[in-house]
Amino acid sequence: MAITEYFATLADNPYFGAGFGLFGVGAGAAILRKGFQTSMILFRRHYMITLEVPCRDKSYQWLLQWMTTKGARQTQHLSVETSFEQKDSGHVKTKYDFIPSIGTHFFRYGRTWIRVERTREQHTLDLHMGTPWETVQLTALGRNKEMYFEILEEARQMALKQHEGKTIMYQAMGSEWRQFGHPRKRRPISSVILDVGISERILNDCLEFISNPTWYTDRGIPYRRGYLLYGPPGCGKSSFITALAGELGFSISVLNLSERGLSDDRLNHLLSTAPQQSILLLEDIDAAFVSREETPQQKSAYEGLNRVTFSGLLNCLDGVASSEARMMFMTTNYIERLDPALIRPGRVDLKEYIGWCSANQIEKMFLRFYDGEDAHNHAKVFTEKVVSFKKNVSPAQLQGFFMFNKHSDPKEVIDSCKMIWEL
Ligand code: ADP
Repeated sequence: MAITEYFATLADNPYFGAGFGLFGVGAGAAILRKGFQTSMILFRRHYMITLEVPCRDKSYQWLLQWMTTKGARQTQHLSVETSFEQKDSGHVKTKYDFIPSIGTHFFRYGRTWIRVERTREQHTLDLHMGTPWETVQLTALGRNKEMYFEILEEARQMALKQHEGKTIMYQAMGSEWRQFGHPRKRRPISSVILDVGISERILNDCLEFISNPTWYTDRGIPYRRGYLLYGPPGCGKSSFITALAGELGFSISVLNLSERGLSDDRLNHLLSTAPQQSILLLEDIDAAFVSREETPQQKSAYEGLNRVTFSGLLNCLDGVASSEARMMFMTTNYIERLDPALIRPGRVDLKEYIGWCSANQIEKMFLRFYDGEDAHNHAKVFTEKVVSFKKNVSPAQLQGFFMFNKHSDPKEVIDSCKMIWEL
């Protein structure tokens, strides 16, 4: 039998015909499904843009905040975040921020609809924070990646605006930097009264440093600058650094070197991951080390406590590098206790003595608390009298004395100035 005849007979067979038909339908459906899947993949790849933001990314919180204020307000599903805000009066207000909850939300940006999926992994933890791992994924139709840049930038600006006029403080917790306390109202630099020229000298040095990154990169020098403020307690070292940070629009990251459990490795990690645009502050640096010549007993005691070693600190200081300006401030009440290696140029580039009140400072401090027609004359008389005692006086002592005499008139204040050393 010829082959064509054979197929003709098969086709005539009704059972075979039906089976063949069914097979055809099944195969067609499979091809269609596959085709649909492939075109969906191609469509997603070429005509949809997604942005994934994991919770470890800096922009994560900004983005959630931005979405809530901008678009996702209509969403019915929110989670709450409580924060504290300090009013100008110093009054602290509790603030509740609603952010989109876990799940899917839609919002409109310009003319584009964006699908937002916030997911939380139950089984993966962010090891640093001990919180569940979260991500936010934005999906939109189109090919305009610029839109995501715009969104992130808007979110960043919005977050920065919230902290405008405030100074944020960070503290090292474990191997992380965490914000502590609520952002503080900036302290005006003029409210910290230092001896003539000191304040301007430090501020100008910082401004010069910030505005000249190329000077450092061109010469292959790490872009950092070290400052040491030394002098007796209560003379304004910490207050000045806080005011300076406010003036420069920087936050402050405080590191306590005497903290137990702070090893060389952790210190290194912390210094290299400190928040950007932040002044690194190592307070009372003398308390952490006495001298490089640690006795073997001291050495092993330190190691036992898992503390930072002196050589470890020097290595870390030399290694501090950042693409942005990195300013490091150290303070001490006892400069003579510091090892010269710690404060040599390159590690400390500018040293300033913040000392007892000069006559000029006493006068200015007086005028900060008392005004009125005769204030300047009173300030002069007061200063002369205080100076005549030939005793050291710190601005903190003066401040305490003026606060104690808040309701006294200037003459009474002058008469009772002996009390400065008795409070
Ligand atoms: P330090 O860090 O030198 O020990 P602080 O900055 O902690 O001193 O000052 C303690 C207190 O004294 C603060 O309340 C601060 O307002 C006040 N004070 C100290 N120095 C000055 C100053 N030079 N001008 C104005 N206030 C000062």
